[in-house]
Amino acid sequence: MEKRMPNELNVTHDPARKSFVESANKPNADFPIQNLPFGVYKRPGTQHRVGVATGDQIVDLLALVDAGLLQGDAQKAALATTNGGLNDLMSLRNPHSSALRSRLSDLLEISSSHREATGRALVPISQAQMQLPAKIGNFTDFMASSFHALRHRPGAVLSKTFQSLPVAYHSRASTVRVQQAIRRPNVQRQIADIVEFGPSHEMDYELELGIFIGVGNQLGAPVPIDDARDYIFGFCLLNDWSIRDVQRWESVPLGPFLAKSTLTTISPWVVTEEAMRPFKIAAFKRDPIESSPLPYLFSQTNESAGGYNIELEAAIRTETMRRASVPFHTLTRTNFRHMYWTVAQMLTHHMSNGCSLLPGDLLGSGTISGPEDESAACLMELNARGARPIPLPNGETRLWLADGDEIRITGRAVANGYASIGFGESQARVEPAVQWQERIEAAAE
Ligand code: MN
Repeated sequence: MEKRMPNELNVTHDPARKSFVESANKPNADFPIQNLPFGVYKRPGTQHRVGVATGDQIVDLLALVDAGLLQGDAQKAALATTNGGLNDLMSLRNPHSSALRSRLSDLLEISSSHREATGRALVPISQAQMQLPAKIGNFTDFMASSFHALRHRPGAVLSKTFQSLPVAYHSRASTVRVQQAIRRPNVQRQIADIVEFGPSHEMDYELELGIFIGVGNQLGAPVPIDDARDYIFGFCLLNDWSIRDVQRWESVPLGPFLAKSTLTTISPWVVTEEAMRPFKIAAFKRDPIESSPLPYLFSQTNESAGGYNIELEAAIRTETMRRASVPFHTLTRTNFRHMYWTVAQMLTHHMSNGCSLLPGDLLGSGTISGPEDESAACLMELNARGARPIPLPNGETRLWLADGDEIRITGRAVANGYASIGFGESQARVEPAVQWQERIEAAAE
């Protein structure tokens, strides 16, 4: 009965599948039946619960267990979410989440014989408050777009290091959130020759993809590149808010430090590695004069199918635009295909010295900038490092983010012959800094 499809695809990827949840069948729905991303939600007065998004609904996993609709590996996977988070499910080998995905696809299918019972496990997304999907033990942020690297510094050339390894730093897991506000931080910076402390003048966004680790590796046990995929649980959108005035000042010779730990926001739905399989494409084609990867970062499979075709956008709405009901204005239109390093290379390099990755660890891809002007994926690139104000359609301009500005990030994986799937969104508004004295008093309360 199971229809075999090429490239490790299965019936859950079949573009002809429709859901009995009508909103999942709309053209360009983020969460069609082919997606089935995991998330953590709560309703007022309830504990955190794990569900899967379909159209404008959440399928509650434990409600399916209680209704007796899950068996075997699918049931084991769902029961791993009993504590209201995804870490235990992530720590199972992917066949469990794959069995759950397969069963969910059948239960939600338009001719499902369990339509009524499954329908009783649905919760409207509009009634849910989305939470952080996992307890994130570690957060590593990469810099994997050559276009970002080149626009990052004046007169830059692609360094031998950048060509040889996916550059990264250990960032701050405790400040990763699913939330819709970012408070302007107070920072130390140098202006002319004066070193001072006060509200940042240079708040920026960075459009990135987040990668959640599933099963981890043991300390001391590196993983070959062609096995790296087994360590990916799934993907989300990630805004690596960046505070450029302190970044420039503090990053000599180390860093970044406080420039990146104000806040990182992610989209709440984790799109699984399995859901992303139809969207694999060839890895980025390097200029022939650039170094090719060393053998531990090279494989034919990675070259031919290590990339992903994901269309991504970042958009702004200022306070003035919001008051005038003006829609968001797109600042960045880019694609994950522009990344110089693939996700498998990032993972393999990260573990190459024996470093242990844990279930629920998060990797940031780095700013996903491409070659075209509109594919610059942060303000620092769009404004030529502070030199060129960015015009907005209502006559306003921006060098950096102003109080009241909102940034919204969206993404969509696309492939000919397959149902495209969305990531939902990550959106947050800049709130004014509190005065330093008020901040100390607030903390003491
Ligand atoms: Mn970044």
